[in-house]
Amino acid sequence: MTIKDIMKYIESEYKVINETPCEICGGDYIAEDLEIALIDGIPFDICDCICSSCGHEKEFLFTAPFIEDKDYKKIVKTLN
Ligand SMILES: [Zn+2]
Repeated sequence: MTIKDIMKYIESEYKVINETPCEICGGDYIAEDLEIALIDGIPFDICDCICSSCGHEKEFLFTAPFIEDKDYKKIVKTLN
């Protein structure tokens, strides 16, 4: 897995977020925070999002089986 692949993976996550309308008002979600968490030993991307129209908060979960926690934080830092 190269950095390029990881970037592509993260881009696809943002695409999912962008294409998901707010369940309250149908507005667009904005990614606020991206973190990794282990759930049953599987690393997950957890993306906290907030609706740009009504402020409704939603958590998006993505599996991230290929990234070590340490590397991931480095990549997130680079993205920000
Ligand atoms: Zn909304």
